Amino acid sequence: MSLPDLPPGTPFGLDNLPYGVFSHAGEPRRRAGVAVGDTVLDLSAAAEEAAAPFAPLLTSGVLNPLLAAGPATWREVRARVTEWLTEERYAEQIRPHLLPRNEIVMHLPFEVADYVDFYSSEQHAINAGRIFFGDAAVLPPNWKHVPIGYHGRAGTVLASGTPIVRPSGQRKPRDETVPTYGPSRTLDIEAEVGFVVGTPSELGRPVPIGEFAEHVFGVCLVNDWSARDIQAWELQPLGPFLGKSFATSISSWVVPLAALEHARVTPPPQDPEPLPYLRTAEPWGLDLALEIRLNGHLVSSPPFATQYWTAAQQLAHLTANGANLRTGDLYASGTVTGPEREQRGSLLELSWGGREPFAVPGGQRTFLEDGDEVVISASAPGPGGARIGFGEVRGTVVPGGSDHSARLRST
Ligand code: CA
Repeated sequence: MSLPDLPPGTPFGLDNLPYGVFSHAGEPRRRAGVAVGDTVLDLSAAAEEAAAPFAPLLTSGVLNPLLAAGPATWREVRARVTEWLTEERYAEQIRPHLLPRNEIVMHLPFEVADYVDFYSSEQHAINAGRIFFGDAAVLPPNWKHVPIGYHGRAGTVLASGTPIVRPSGQRKPRDETVPTYGPSRTLDIEAEVGFVVGTPSELGRPVPIGEFAEHVFGVCLVNDWSARDIQAWELQPLGPFLGKSFATSISSWVVPLAALEHARVTPPPQDPEPLPYLRTAEPWGLDLALEIRLNGHLVSSPPFATQYWTAAQQLAHLTANGANLRTGDLYASGTVTGPEREQRGSLLELSWGGREPFAVPGGQRTFLEDGDEVVISASAPGPGGARIGFGEVRGTVVPGGSDHSARLRST
C-alpha cells in the first residue's frame, strides 16, 4: 500500500525515488523533490514538517548540501521517504506535499562543480576512428589501458529543456581553403550517462576504486551537444574545446545508486587486464537501456551495459593523479554506442560522418537542423520486474549566429 496512487508499470515506483529540484506557481522558491508515480514529493517541505534531522540540507534550492552529506545521510533520507510514502500513519502529514508532476517546473538539480567527459564505448571509439580515418582504423594504442577523457565546461551544463542555440565558430571543411566563422553546419548529439559526485575527497589522495559508492551519489542522463565542424578544425592537436563547451544538457532527475542494485552487471571482458588501480571484483556495469528520439521519432536505442570502462574505473582514473573530488562534480560516460546500427549514440555515427543520411518521418537527416528536438530517455531493471526510469534530457535547436542576433534584436 502506498500513499500516492501509483500507475501500473510506472518508471517512478517506490524502488526508484530519484531526486530533483522544482518550483511551482504557488511557491517560486526552488525545492528538493522526489518523483513518485505521476507526482513529486516536496521533500523540502515534508522534511521540515517532520522536523527531520536532514531538513536543513534541503533548503538551498540545489541538491549539493544533501550530496555533500555522504552515504549514511543518503540512506537515512531514502529510508524516511520510503516510510512517509508507504505507512498510513504519515498519510495526513505527507499527502499535502505530493504535487502533480505536470504542474511543476524542473530546474538544474545541482550546482555543477567540475565536469569531465570520458570516451568509454569501444564501439563508439571504433566507429569514430573509421569515420575519420577509414575502415582500416584501429583503436588508439592507449585506449584499453587508459579510460580516456577531458575536462569540460561546468558553467554550460544546462537543465533539460533549455533551448540549444546553434553555436558559431571556426569551420574549415576539407574542400575549403581557408577557415570561416559562422554557425556550425554539423551540429550533433552524444547520448551519455552522467555520474554525480557527492562526497568530496582530499587533494593528493587518489580515490581507490573500491570507494566508488562512498563518493558517487547517483546517475543522470547527459546530452553532450557537439559541433563536429568546429571540433574537427580545432582539435589538432589538443582535445575537445569550443566544439563542445557551448552546451551540455542533463536530465531533471538524479537516480540514486541505491536504486540501481538490480541494474548492476558484469562489464565486457577487459583484455589486456587493466593496471591494479583500475581493477575491482565488484561489477559496476549498469544495464541501462537508452532511447534517442529526434522530433518524436525513435532513431536509436544504445545499450549502456556494453560500455568498456565502468563508472567506478572512471572515478579511480579521474583521481589517479591526486586531483580531488568536489561535491557536484559531474562525469559523463562518453557516447553510448552498441554493436548494431540502431544502437549508435550520435548522428555522426548514424549518418556515418554525414555520408549516409538516415530516414526520419518526412525526410532524411545527417546532422541537426534548426527546430529539431532531441529527447534522450532511459530505464533500467528494478526488483520484481519493475523498471527504474531516468526521465529524459530534452533540448531543441534554435538558430545561432547572425540569425540568432537578428531574432534577439527583433524581440
Ligand atoms: Ca562526449
